[in-house]
Amino acid sequence: MNRKRSIALYRRALGLIPGGVNSPVRAFKAIGIPPVFIERAKGSKIWDVDGNEYIDYVGSWGPMIMGHAHPRIVSALKKTAPKGTSFGAPTPLEIDLANEIRKAFPSMEMVRMVSSGTEAVMSAIRVARGYTGRNKILKFEGCYHGHGDSLLVKAGSGAITFGVPDSLGVPEDVAKHTLTAPYNDLDRVKALVNQYPDQIACIIVEPIAGNMGAVPPARGFLEGLRQICDEKGILLLFDEVISGFRVAFGGAQELYGIKADMTCLGKIIGGGLPVGAYGGKEKIMEGVAPLGGIYQAGTLSGNPMAMTAGLATLEILKTKKVYKDLEKKTVYLAEKISECAEERGVPVTINHATGLLTVFFTEVPVKDYATAKTSNTKRFAQFFIEMMEQGIYLPPSQFEAWFISLAHTQKDLDRTIESCEQAFKKI
Ligand SMILES: *Cc1c(COP(=O)(O)O)cnc(C)c1O
Repeated sequence: MNRKRSIALYRRALGLIPGGVNSPVRAFKAIGIPPVFIERAKGSKIWDVDGNEYIDYVGSWGPMIMGHAHPRIVSALKKTAPKGTSFGAPTPLEIDLANEIRKAFPSMEMVRMVSSGTEAVMSAIRVARGYTGRNKILKFEGCYHGHGDSLLVKAGSGAITFGVPDSLGVPEDVAKHTLTAPYNDLDRVKALVNQYPDQIACIIVEPIAGNMGAVPPARGFLEGLRQICDEKGILLLFDEVISGFRVAFGGAQELYGIKADMTCLGKIIGGGLPVGAYGGKEKIMEGVAPLGGIYQAGTLSGNPMAMTAGLATLEILKTKKVYKDLEKKTVYLAEKISECAEERGVPVTINHATGLLTVFFTEVPVKDYATAKTSNTKRFAQFFIEMMEQGIYLPPSQFEAWFISLAHTQKDLDRTIESCEQAFKKI
């Protein structure tokens, strides 16, 4: 494939933008080739600036569950834009989206709109701390909750319980309030909760992890967290920025029948425009300004364009049997790719949840960050490049999920499986 224009643009971008990109994983660092620059996308397909066509499994990292440039979403945006794109004052659209969200997530009795998933989580953590009067939070190794200071922490080694920042510029004084446990490890959670009595404001979790690759919760894990939180007066915070409106209309909470005290959303609820939302029980959300003393604000919060794209997306998602369809597509891909790998003698573990899938290049069952890390990332990089050459655009890291959309056709899926077969032959 010719990528001359992408390469030229990348060189230009390198002089203007750190690493040439506005979000690190876009730089293909884990692969070692320059990134492609995108010209346009439609449905399941994406085209780079050199005119190469790909079947897209990045889907903007989750929002594009309807595929790209869906006619109903585009037409809704065309109606909203001429009326003005931001007022810094309330609009009816915000009420409509908040109402749709609450119908899907009954535990979100009150909802506040923000402009990104990061902002939603940062705000929700502040609310949890303000409400409980406690400083510590507990998160899981390998779960990503945006780039807020308190959240850029994972366990450094098994012995460390106090958080160590993953990023320069995060004060240890902030990171020390973040406790970490391995995903799916209830015993570790119990130990930490007992070690820090009355100090933990919330347990934050991706109820279906997507940011170490797809890792579903073990049976009883989420129920166990719910029970521990109830016993200890800790708030349970579900980060459903990926799983919300993807694994089911009501997210993981609907799927597993568990109510979180607070929930964060993003990605799909903006239909491809910048958005986030957080919410929870009324008695907790009453603490948020201007009702209460926990301050949080945003110039573009509840932005009419973002609300419009989100509403149009949810309207389509709730009308059809979309989740059965998405589930079928996901399972089909997972099973067929698994068969191909076995035939070719390539050891893989494939994890999936509705609309999410990761091919881990390891034989070890992947249930947490440590087991995800057993993957052969060199092999993944070779696989990625082979797939790209065959016109399949995958997330450029072993530790990410493929995002399957409703726009992926049977033909797309079969072409993807054929490409996997070819790639497995070569790696
Ligand atoms: C993407 C993501 C975020 C951050 O959202 P942004 O809009 O990128 O700030 C937070 N939590 C989870 C689980 C995510 O996948």
